Amino acid sequence: MLNIVLFGPPGAGKGTQSERLIERYGLVHLSTGDIFRANIKGETELGLMAKSFMDQGKLVPDEVTINMLHSEVLKHDNPKGFIFDGFPRTNAQALALDVLLDGLNAPISLMLALEVEESELKVRLLKRAESSGRADDADPAIIENRIRVYNNETAPVKAFYQAQNKFKSIDGIGTIDEITERLFAAIEA
Ligand code: AMP
Repeated sequence: MLNIVLFGPPGAGKGTQSERLIERYGLVHLSTGDIFRANIKGETELGLMAKSFMDQGKLVPDEVTINMLHSEVLKHDNPKGFIFDGFPRTNAQALALDVLLDGLNAPISLMLALEVEESELKVRLLKRAESSGRADDADPAIIENRIRVYNNETAPVKAFYQAQNKFKSIDGIGTIDEITERLFAAIEA
């Protein structure tokens, strides 16, 4: 199985590039942000709970997120692999993912980290807000908070995969096609 963690700050292009990777490698796409948003739309209990954190640009608590991810992974029978988009976002989540995947005998193959500087992220998120309809993209104060949370809680997850020799940094500046080619090259190296 090819199991990829597509990593990076908000606005780095994880969703866009995930679509390209799924198409090429036939992977199952698991975006925790998308799953939370679907739950908000469906007015589920999980959605209601997640919304209170998402609206402030904070992380949904680990226990909730890990349980949700766990049940999503187990929904798929015999997948070619998974692309984890927006997960793990904390070291506790990374550890839980390892335990889950070890149990399935299908460890993470690679973490691909899209690197984009903060000023560019802010421009991209505000632009995305025009079409995404996401309240957390439209408010500069919430964007600041999401980037701060990324730097404090999420960026340290890189070291978790570096220690396993699974980490690859990808320049996230360029055209969508250029970045896709960099990701393909890193996977196929
Ligand atoms: P995203 O679509 O990945 O930008 O995620 C949007 C929001 O969903 C984040 O700002 C968090 O509030 C929440 N979220 C998504 N994934 C996670 C995660 N792995 N852990 C905690 N919160 C998450």
